[in-house]
Amino acid sequence: MAVILPALPFEKNALEPYISSLTLEYHHGKHHNTYVVNTNNLIKETELENISLENIIAHCVNDSTKTALFNNAAQVWNHTFYWNSLKPNGGGLPNGAVGEKIDADFGSYENFVKLFKEAALGQFGSGWAWLVVENGKLNLVKTTNADTPIAHGIKPILCIDVWEHAYYLDYKNGRADYTDAIIKNLLNWDFANENLAR
Ligand code: MN
Repeated sequence: MAVILPALPFEKNALEPYISSLTLEYHHGKHHNTYVVNTNNLIKETELENISLENIIAHCVNDSTKTALFNNAAQVWNHTFYWNSLKPNGGGLPNGAVGEKIDADFGSYENFVKLFKEAALGQFGSGWAWLVVENGKLNLVKTTNADTPIAHGIKPILCIDVWEHAYYLDYKNGRADYTDAIIKNLLNWDFANENLAR
């Protein structure tokens, strides 16, 4: 059971003008795919060859001899979660249970937006900003490099990739503009509600 590169859940040009098809060609077709290829090379002919991606991540997280496998496997998982966190004509006010919980746990949608941006911009260097559920409450956290909430028993709801490769072709160094564009126009609240209900 090899790890596979899932197809994007939308057409390559569907997120324009906020994320270009050129960015997706590289980000999905090159970066995400490279993590898949590396993961498969690292599990080949080992006892990890036939376990799920989530179990590979759990197996490696506290093993300093398996850092390369952790990094690649977690990046495969994070990117798939990121594609699902985005959709054409997304963003804006959250619907359903997530919308109610955002008001309850952050006070308002506006405060949620402010804190999500702070997490995305406050991550020094490569990493991720996440809306998560922790101890029954929504929270915003950031992780460095490949690190992922699922390695720490924390349930992710949505994420934004803040590695430079996610935005450099479209926004150059403008991580703030990229983050704004995603929050306003692309966040997939249906996926967020599915994750909250899990
Ligand atoms: Mn990425």
